[in-house]
Amino acid sequence: MTKKTVAIIGGGSATLMLASEIDTSKYDVTIYEKNQGLGRKFLVAGKGGFNLTHSTPIEEMKTKYVASDPILSALDSFTNEDFISWLKKEGIETFVGSSKRIFPKKGIKPIQVLQAFEKRIKENGVNIEFNSTWKGFEGEQLIIEKEGETTTINPDIVVFALGGASWKVTGSEGDWLTHFEEKGIKTVPFSASNCGVAITWKEKFAKTNEGQPLKSISASCGKLAKKGDVIITRLGLEGSAVYALSPAIREQLQEKGEATIYIDLKPTTTEESILRKMKSPRKKNSWSEHLIWQLKLSKPMFDLVKRTCTKEDFMNPEFLAKHIKQIPLQVTGFDEIDKAISTVGGIKLDEIKDNFELKNLKNHYVIGEMLDWDAPTGGYLLQGCMSMGVGLAESL
Ligand SMILES: Cc1cc2nc3c(=O)[nH]c(=O)nc-3n(C[C@H](O)[C@H](O)[C@H](O)COP(=O)(O)OP(=O)(O)OC[C@H]3O[C@@H](n4cnc5c(N)ncnc54)[C@H](O)[C@@H]3O)c2cc1C
Repeated sequence: MTKKTVAIIGGGSATLMLASEIDTSKYDVTIYEKNQGLGRKFLVAGKGGFNLTHSTPIEEMKTKYVASDPILSALDSFTNEDFISWLKKEGIETFVGSSKRIFPKKGIKPIQVLQAFEKRIKENGVNIEFNSTWKGFEGEQLIIEKEGETTTINPDIVVFALGGASWKVTGSEGDWLTHFEEKGIKTVPFSASNCGVAITWKEKFAKTNEGQPLKSISASCGKLAKKGDVIITRLGLEGSAVYALSPAIREQLQEKGEATIYIDLKPTTTEESILRKMKSPRKKNSWSEHLIWQLKLSKPMFDLVKRTCTKEDFMNPEFLAKHIKQIPLQVTGFDEIDKAISTVGGIKLDEIKDNFELKNLKNHYVIGEMLDWDAPTGGYLLQGCMSMGVGLAESL
């Protein structure tokens, strides 16, 4: 019996797992990837803290996703624990960091994690066509451009895993929306997620504090809150604590054109305790020195407090205790999309069935960041892509 052919378009993170798990006794599988190698963005993710997944129980983890089925059900069937065991089986030991994120064990480089996937894909008998870019549809067929030559392919099953639209240098350019729209498939324009936010700082504050961290703070927006560190930039703020607020910031920006985030500089100290410390007997030092000393404020923290209130309020302990727990900052937008860790937008989730198949395009499936979902950085994105890879492999 001849096997059915499967073309996977895009060789990124979601494909690494799909191609590892797809049943090649049933299918003749080929990956078409525009780069000369697989997993370029996977490697970029590895350059920072390589958060493969998160250690939070899956039920709690799922609450952080702005998504619906089939992504949520894929997370149920291939959980973070399943992914950790899967990696272990492939020789990649992991450990839980202090942030509860899961990293490859010390000494294991990102390239070794990628190589473990590549070994598995090779053993699974999956073919790979590098330097092969999908250029759109020609009737039922797919147009593939390789080294200046254009051909068409007509596989039995097509899986699109083209990624989002940030870090274009990795190959995920998000330039394919119109190909799907022409087929009557609804898409959402891409926008940045998990990225820095723009804040209109007072000029002096940005100049003197650019690059400085605000450590162990808590940031909140709407119903979302996140403890962690942020870095002050000329544009505004970046870092995990603000990235996690992306969905709420996006919502407010869409509704009002502006969003408000609140910074709690002392998340483990109550307002009362802050007030008590402020009112404690002052030695001969100035009010500013007293505050810095009593509240253990770093220079950028102190500057932020001072630059975000009036002179009168700054001298008022009752106001200041409240303010330190909830400094409002007006966010005017996100940083450039290309600098974002991830993007939202792409194929609308209600365009796909429970098995990731496009409702309007039989035998065509979509997985990974090219679907319109959102999740915080810190392992949630890769876990989502891996779960979708396994979910689709099992349903085919
Ligand atoms: C700086 C950075 C750090 C990150 N850190 C983390 C982290 O620590 N933890 C975490 O969970 N996530 C992290 N991420 C996010 C994570 O890497 C992505 O969400 C994930 O790689 C998306 O996987 P994907 O398969 O959907 O797309 P991608 O990995 O982007 O793969 C898409 C592939 O499709 C190919 N392609 C695109 N168009 C075509 C075409 N027309 N023809 C052929 N091929 C095409 C691309 O070349 C690419 O190889 C990070 C991302 C960035 C940018």
